Amino acid sequence: MNGFIHSIETMGTVDGPGLRYVVFTAGCPLRCKYCHNPDTWNIGNGREVSVNQILDDYDKYRLFLKNGGITVTGGEPLVQIDFLIELFKSAKDKGIHTCLDTSGATFSNKGERYKKFIELSKVTDLVMLDIKHIKPDGYYELTKGNLDETLAFLDFLSKKETYCDVWIRHVIVKGYTYKKDYLYELGYHLGGYKNIKALDVLPYHIMGESKYAALGLEYPLKGMEAMPKENAIKARKIIEAGIVKRLMDDKK
Ligand code: SF4
Repeated sequence: MNGFIHSIETMGTVDGPGLRYVVFTAGCPLRCKYCHNPDTWNIGNGREVSVNQILDDYDKYRLFLKNGGITVTGGEPLVQIDFLIELFKSAKDKGIHTCLDTSGATFSNKGERYKKFIELSKVTDLVMLDIKHIKPDGYYELTKGNLDETLAFLDFLSKKETYCDVWIRHVIVKGYTYKKDYLYELGYHLGGYKNIKALDVLPYHIMGESKYAALGLEYPLKGMEAMPKENAIKARKIIEAGIVKRLMDDKK
């Protein structure tokens, strides 16, 4: 089966455990204001490759990747779920650890699409789930997407039949997500899940800004400064306080 990819990174260090072979797929239904990969949005701009081509290429680096595996990110990989399932199935057949980096956008717990997600869960070792905002209206304002899909996907991954380990990612952006109440609420929500194994709180950065001009697009957060790392540490503490509160409440 063929898919459309934006690019490949052969020695990724921040996209899952160990050294990773990272596939950036093309196509994304969201429009995050801080997106640093706007060149991945359009699936039509992707390069067509087959599952076998990717895994043959992976084999060239296999020795270095033995404590890591393959990560598929984007764009939004779930846009090409059939390709993703085939790629992960073939990777698992070869004993490769599989990680999906996603926002959960396009998740559905209905019909044929739901069946595909069940199939995907069977061949995915780890999901890095980016929860972009904990309030539905804030989520829409920041991404033009639907928070329900993300949270329903998290729920799905916590069920016995479709269980996957999850690492949560959350980007803090001034005026959008960097607010005490939101961070605490996010933590309180996360505290209800036993399949969450890690939490990454990432400060907003401006590295993607230059790509917008090259694509003839206006950068939505023009003029906003990068968030200091110390603020990510502060935000993490607030999220953790929410998690602890939830754990205590659930024990009552
Ligand atoms: S989900 Fe990722 S690729 Fe899509 S718009 Fe948001 S940041 Fe960009």
